[in-house]
Amino acid sequence: MDEVVAQHRLHPLVRSHLHAISPYVPGRPIADVMREFGLHHVVKLASNENPLGPSMLAVQAGQQAMLEVNRYPDGAAKDLREAIAKHMSLSEDYVIVSNGSDEMIKMIAETFLDHGDEIVLPFPSFAQYTFGANVMDAKITYVPLHDDLTYDLDAMLRAISDKTKIVYLCTPNNPTGSWLQHQEIEAFLHQLPDHVLLVLDEAYCEYVTTPDPIRSEKWIAEGKPLLSLRTFSKIYGLAGLRLGYTLGHPALLAYLHKVREPFNANAVAQKTAIAALFDQEHVIRVRDYNEEERQRYYAFFEEHKLRYYPSQGNFILLDVGDGRKIFDQLQRKGIITRAGFPGLERCVRISIGTREENALCREALLAVLHK
Ligand SMILES: *Cc1c(COP(=O)(O)O)cnc(C)c1O
Repeated sequence: MDEVVAQHRLHPLVRSHLHAISPYVPGRPIADVMREFGLHHVVKLASNENPLGPSMLAVQAGQQAMLEVNRYPDGAAKDLREAIAKHMSLSEDYVIVSNGSDEMIKMIAETFLDHGDEIVLPFPSFAQYTFGANVMDAKITYVPLHDDLTYDLDAMLRAISDKTKIVYLCTPNNPTGSWLQHQEIEAFLHQLPDHVLLVLDEAYCEYVTTPDPIRSEKWIAEGKPLLSLRTFSKIYGLAGLRLGYTLGHPALLAYLHKVREPFNANAVAQKTAIAALFDQEHVIRVRDYNEEERQRYYAFFEEHKLRYYPSQGNFILLDVGDGRKIFDQLQRKGIITRAGFPGLERCVRISIGTREENALCREALLAVLHK
């Protein structure tokens, strides 16, 4: 069948609200940019990946697990959930795993959202929340961050209606880097109406170096209406393996299990992650390294009078006036950043890379910004 004809006939078969969903645009792969611009060395600072890579103990465990991939994984991920629970001082029935936290965001939407339901999202924040709501045809209320890109929690509370089922908070927030304090979320939880579930996306929580980091495990142990999303993609350096986990009350998790694919976390990922969790020295090494490099960037931005937004993540949002333009110019110099975030047209987001990559990025910034 001719492709155009096929599409024409298929169009009405598709659930109508899906037509409005536009595809996710990921950071550009290094090989693509090399080819397009004829470059030999390209640095990717576009997807908040860990430049130091995973723990070697984790890699070895993964290699070992490869020898048994003829077997299905443990669908219940019992050993992994036990390891996570121990690390969090919770019991294992407070833990559910997923194929990256991206999958969990979709599972949450599938579990809770019907046509006509509402969710409240911060703006700008992570695009996946919008995707989940769109798949289920739920209505989204966006609540803008303050001008300095910090959270406006009062406005988020005011945005909640009788139809609201879920409120998302992402801290540290992607792509802005802004973060919330433990007390702020605690107060927010107290004011949350009974019919609303808080989903706290803590993908970058291990990078936080503030004196009073969020301890959402505590609220979860107390039975608050809360899910905390974590991932092995960021500080653990396992983005390619696709593994996330979520903490929540067992009664809540039981509903998420209804939409969970039986083998959603693969065997290599499970074994690798157990070893990665065990190697907390590596996690601390990455966190400290990230803090050092963040400070180097800040010093550079201040020296050259560039406006940046302080970040508790492994990325920094920089106001360059015209994000797309500077993104293009950096790319021609072999530095892939990220621009085009809705509401942040003036900005590029730079993921923190190796020391050498960061130095190259700063050099390229000086050239394109004519500093
Ligand atoms: C990277 C990221 C995730 C994690 O995605 P995975 O699917 O686990 O790789 C979740 N939330 C935010 C805000 C992120 O930036």
